[in-house]
Amino acid sequence: MDRCDSCRNILKCPICGTSSHSFRHVGVRGTKSRFRIPVVDYNLTYDKQPSGIWHYSQPCNHRVHPAATSSIVKYNGGPLWQDGYTWQDIYWGSYYTKPSLSQWMKRLELVVAHLESDTSYSGGLSTYNVGTGKLIGPVMIPQDPSSQISNDQIAKTLIGWISSGTVADLSANGG
Ligand SMILES: [Zn+2]
Ligand SMILES: [Zn+2]
Repeated sequence: MDRCDSCRNILKCPICGTSSHSFRHVGVRGTKSRFRIPVVDYNLTYDKQPSGIWHYSQPCNHRVHPAATSSIVKYNGGPLWQDGYTWQDIYWGSYYTKPSLSQWMKRLELVVAHLESDTSYSGGLSTYNVGTGKLIGPVMIPQDPSSQISNDQIAKTLIGWISSGTVADLSANGG
């Protein structure tokens, strides 16, 4: 990802004036306490700060602060989750039954739990009445899906899992 919506129109680094041929994006999880966190790939620590995507202008590598993106989020009328929704991950396929993957899955569950409950990340959608939610335990489906599968087939399979009670029925409150 060289450019996102918030850095699309930045032509040069506001710090040194060097023209920006691209931006390096680093996702940073916010901290509420004054606990110091290491920033991935950067030999720095920062105090208390909100979650977000940090921008480093290339090639000078200065961190720049693009304008807030909330005004450029476009709502195209699709269905929305409600504040307080429930999220459940589904791991589908024998691949996920490998013992070597259990640590990775635990880390992924933790990441999702953080994202869904983080007011400065998921809470950023509050204009749409979509705020933070909660994560419930994941589901493992050990049977492999066919090697090619359409969106419709996924939807049908999911409805089947919900009616058999394999997957939680979250109705309009889930995702
Ligand atoms: Zn960007
Ligand atoms: Zn610069």
